[in-house]
Amino acid sequence: MAEDRISAALANATDTEVVEIGTGALRSVGEVFGRSFGDRPAVIVADEHTLAAGGTGVPEELAAGGRTVVEPYVFPGEPTVYADYRNIETLIDSLRMHDAIPVAIGSGTLNDIVKRAAHECERPYLCVATAASMDGYTAFGAAITKDGYKRTMTCPAPRAVVADVDVLTAAPGPMTASGYADLLSKITAGADWIVADALEVEKIDPRVWSLVQGPLREATGKPAELRDGDAQAMDALIEGLIMSGLAMQAAASSRPASGAEHQFSHLWEMEGLGHDEHPPLSHGFKVGVGTISIAALYQRILQRDLSDLDVDRVASAWPAWDEVERRVRAAHTTPGLDEAAVAESRAKYVGADELADRLALLRERWPEIRRKVQEQLIGPEGLREMLAAAGARTGPGDIGLSMEAFKDSYRRAQMIRRRYTALDLANETGILDECVEELFAPGGFWAGEAAERGARV
Ligand SMILES: [Zn+2]
Repeated sequence: MAEDRISAALANATDTEVVEIGTGALRSVGEVFGRSFGDRPAVIVADEHTLAAGGTGVPEELAAGGRTVVEPYVFPGEPTVYADYRNIETLIDSLRMHDAIPVAIGSGTLNDIVKRAAHECERPYLCVATAASMDGYTAFGAAITKDGYKRTMTCPAPRAVVADVDVLTAAPGPMTASGYADLLSKITAGADWIVADALEVEKIDPRVWSLVQGPLREATGKPAELRDGDAQAMDALIEGLIMSGLAMQAAASSRPASGAEHQFSHLWEMEGLGHDEHPPLSHGFKVGVGTISIAALYQRILQRDLSDLDVDRVASAWPAWDEVERRVRAAHTTPGLDEAAVAESRAKYVGADELADRLALLRERWPEIRRKVQEQLIGPEGLREMLAAAGARTGPGDIGLSMEAFKDSYRRAQMIRRRYTALDLANETGILDECVEELFAPGGFWAGEAAERGARV
């Protein structure tokens, strides 16, 4: 069944042609390479850790049949390699010395570095996954830091991906837990897309939607087994992650796999949260906390009956762009992020008239939106349990955020991406601040955590 879903997804993918998932899949790497690139020479790109984790037998497999295998390019294992543009430049210099097809052996960062470097050298590449740690393997674009700002740089996904379940289950537990959290985030990302679709901001493409949401419940259903190293649970996780990537590839956008929970993660990422941890705080752990945060916000929003929203009152209180810009600049002072936040906020800013039209639509469609979003969501308590069972982090304290900084994230994350999410729904209806206050007030979802942390101080 998994294979059927993957082949159906590949039929619509623009870049990826072959995906091999399974126990012992590493042994097929030579065959997959041949199918994708004929007799072109190959070059392995890895770091010291990923080469040890996923490189066993790969050079021999590639060399079988007489293929030329160029001396590998290996980044040091320590300090941890970052997806910094300087690493891409170094790799490009090395790739330009030959015409071999890169074989990336690694997880998120390594794959992103090779994805962009191969693209700049106008070469396709093959990826050997070493951990089920995020959904970027088959995604369009690479998350790269350049001049201090993390952005998605355009580049095609790998032509072929090999994911050996034995290699993935042997990866460090926190990496698997991070991938689980990145996949579970599709629950809130899906809810955001439902809202954006209903308000005619961004239509749902049903084909792309089903790539992500189709296998989602099954793939996230066994967090404890996953943590125990169960091969079937791992198979389902990596399939879900690869399907999410293929969906982003088909959409040429991260919309199918990323909503407000990712905006929390991007905000914290760009402000360097957990960069001093060893290894650095993962994408998935930030996204997991963001997912619980947004599910909790949705709970507050859905409690309200927006079908009797006073559109005139809300629209007349709507700030002009100058005022919004002032607020964005006051909330974001990190160099690079400040200008980006202004540009992103500007891209989604609508004037009071347009807002009134949108809110009128919201009033009319609210019962249907509420029903669909409720059906899509899992409550914040349930998500917290699932993430904890997988071994992921679940609260602001676990990722090193003060309660104050965490609370501010609700308002600040709304400003950094143009994508329409729950944060915009709450902001445009004028209820964002009161919903956030409710979450942190006595009896609110985050109140317990706040009290516990207060007691510890
Ligand atoms: Zn993600």
